[in-house]
Amino acid sequence: MTDCIFCKIIAGDIPSAKVYEDDQIFVFKDINPKAAVHLLVVPKIHLDSLESLTGEHQALIGHMILKLPELAKAQGLNNGFRTIINTGPDGGQEVGHIHIHILGGKGLAKFN
Ligand code: AMP
Ligand code: ZN
Repeated sequence: MTDCIFCKIIAGDIPSAKVYEDDQIFVFKDINPKAAVHLLVVPKIHLDSLESLTGEHQALIGHMILKLPELAKAQGLNNGFRTIINTGPDGGQEVGHIHIHILGGKGLAKFN
C-alpha cells in the first residue's frame, strides 16, 4: 500500500478535480492554486522526481511535455502559460511523485 497522495488521486481513492486522463498520465487542478489556472500533470506510474528518471522513461516524459500546450489551451490559456517542475527538498518539491505544474491566467506572478 503506497502512501503517495498522487498515487491515491490517480487510483480515485482521494477526490480530485480531474481535467484529463489517458493511459499514461493524469491531470488535475492544484488544490492550492497560485494563479487562475493551476494544473498538475502526473504520470500514472509512481516516480519520485526528475532524479528517478532513466532512459526507459524518455517516451513518457516526452508525452507529458507534448501534451502541455493542449492542456493549457483547454483551460483558456491561449496566450501562453508557465511550467514548473520542482525537484527535491531544496527545489521546493513537497509531493514525492513527479509532476509538472501548468500555471496561467489572472494572478500569475512575474517570475523574473
Ligand atoms: P510541489 O511543491 O512541486 O511538490 O507541488 C505540490 C503541489 O501539490 C502543491 O502545489 C499543492 O498545492 C498540490 N497538492 C497537494 N495535495 C493536493 C491534492 N490533494 N489535490 C490537488 N493538489 C494537491
Ligand atoms: Zn505516487
